[in-house]
Amino acid sequence: MEKMINCFNEEVEFDGCPGCAFANHHFELPCGMAYENENFTLAQDWELPIQGFMVLAPKKHIEKLNEFTDSERNEMFEMVNKIIIILREVKICDKFNIIFEEKENRHFHVWIMPRHDWMKKLTDDIIGNIDVIFEYAKSNFRNEENYKKINEITSIIKKDMKKITINGRDING
Ligand SMILES: [Zn+2]
Repeated sequence: MEKMINCFNEEVEFDGCPGCAFANHHFELPCGMAYENENFTLAQDWELPIQGFMVLAPKKHIEKLNEFTDSERNEMFEMVNKIIIILREVKICDKFNIIFEEKENRHFHVWIMPRHDWMKKLTDDIIGNIDVIFEYAKSNFRNEENYKKINEITSIIKKDMKKITINGRDING
């Protein structure tokens, strides 16, 4: 069993790859999955209580962008687009960074990271100082009020993602 800390500062146990374990419902997060369909899962970042900071991951274990089929990759970008539209519409944030890293032995995932005003106060270079942002979030946002807001955001996404259509077909899972 391996362990990690989730966004509510609780220990979560899982076997092997955390991305695969989450996709297969081997562990659950307090904020839950915001959305899932045949190919992808979407949830608030597991470790960092930043409002609207979402992780979109394929259910199959891949490590590189080119391991997707064309259709899966298109679906992923359409989902990223939809998530940002929802977060912007409900005024969680106006601008976002989309981050994905290809790492050895690491389940591919996309970070959808809001560029909150509090981040701009900490640094002019959010990507370059992402560790500073993460440390600030861990030190300042592990409180009930913030978790409540994160749950609200997850509920909004859960509701609004159901309206999504990909390539003209309904992908509700
Ligand atoms: Zn995996």
